[in-house]
Amino acid sequence: MHEFTPEVEALAQEVLAYSLHRLKSDPPLDGPQSAEKLFELVGNTITGKGLGGHKALEVFTEVLAKACISTDHPRNLAFIPSAPSEYANLFDLVVGASALYGGSWQEGAGAVFAENQALQWLSNLAGMPSSAGGVFVQGGTVGNLSALVVARAQARKQWPHITRWAIACSEEAHSSIVSAAEVMDVDLLPIAPDAGGKLRGADVAREIDKFHANSSSRVFVVVATAGTTNLGTIDDLATVGQAARERNLWFHVDGAYGLAALCSPALRPMFAGVENADSFIVDPHKWLFAPFDACALVYRNPDVARQVHTQKASYLETLTDDPSWSPSDYAIHLTRRTRGLPFWFSLAAHGTDAYAEAMEQTMDVARAAAQKIREHPHLELVRDPELSVVAFVRTGWSKTDYQKWSDKLLADQIGFIPPSSHHGQPILRFAIVNPWTKVADIEAILATL
Ligand SMILES: *Cc1c(COP(=O)(O)O)cnc(C)c1O
Repeated sequence: MHEFTPEVEALAQEVLAYSLHRLKSDPPLDGPQSAEKLFELVGNTITGKGLGGHKALEVFTEVLAKACISTDHPRNLAFIPSAPSEYANLFDLVVGASALYGGSWQEGAGAVFAENQALQWLSNLAGMPSSAGGVFVQGGTVGNLSALVVARAQARKQWPHITRWAIACSEEAHSSIVSAAEVMDVDLLPIAPDAGGKLRGADVAREIDKFHANSSSRVFVVVATAGTTNLGTIDDLATVGQAARERNLWFHVDGAYGLAALCSPALRPMFAGVENADSFIVDPHKWLFAPFDACALVYRNPDVARQVHTQKASYLETLTDDPSWSPSDYAIHLTRRTRGLPFWFSLAAHGTDAYAEAMEQTMDVARAAAQKIREHPHLELVRDPELSVVAFVRTGWSKTDYQKWSDKLLADQIGFIPPSSHHGQPILRFAIVNPWTKVADIEAILATL
């Protein structure tokens, strides 16, 4: 029946040896190459007769992999990097080998059960009722969009005569909210946060009421960000949620990056009010030590989501008539990888205390980084960091200086820190989500500034 030929057996050894080597050693930082350069190095890899496994693997390990920046390098502090635990990465190999289908209970019951326990853990940390539930989707962008589509469906039932809809969110909300508005063809009501970058309930209330008084478009959801991507600022969830509730509006919390910190009892109070969310997201691939790609999307009332997202087709009736929990029914997707499993495995194996510890360790490094920046003669913090994003400016530098420094940092294989901007001014930011990032790594980078 199913038998490895000697050739496949040999390739299996090579693939596993490479994987293990990559997992065990310090990751290389590496960096991009132009498509022309890559073509020069590997040519056309798709051929009639095939390269053979050995050669194709070599093309990857010797050329292509080296043209990818390792997101788990301890001095890759760009965007929001990723730092999967060894266990999560190892189990990703198991998921890949197991041909699991994560769309329906019928096909993936065991895997879905495990994913749901991991979701339940997050949901409980947020203080949602035990009836809450959801699904792991590809990323925060899809998670936000899926939740917003449910919110609009709910509003359409509530206000059937309305034909034009709007999303209320902070001016500092993530770009995926703008993208969702475009995809859904709805308006955006961007609301100015306070001087500290936090969206406040009083401002949300006033702006929504003003908008409703002056427009035939109606707000259907209030989005708060629990940890902005650029600066890690947490909106005032309690008052923003209250402003939404008083107007009977769906309250969505985008915690793709920051809500990970719920797992630390010391940090949990910063998210007071998240328990009132109708939906929230958090990406385990960002700050919960899971590999790409996994976003946990949780609904207070998953039934509403199911009514909106269940796909109906004659060949699916066997599934849709079944009352058991099918992850496909809770977001914009059908076929799905059991992408929550590497996260589940690591959580199950290590226990939740280890997550709190790892979280606090990254926070300690972020606090130390902030302190070193305060003491640095040429650097100034943009804001005192709330979470593990530390943003700062280099006095006297132009945009070009920032870019030159960043390019050299990567070329010298010291670190990967592309410049960002805040209120039109160039800034630098350290996004610290990797427990392997030590204060010494921060010092090595600061020494180049
Ligand atoms: C990263 C991020 C997103 C988008 O998540 P992806 O997984 O990249 O799609 C949305 N919101 C916030 C606040 C984020 O930090």
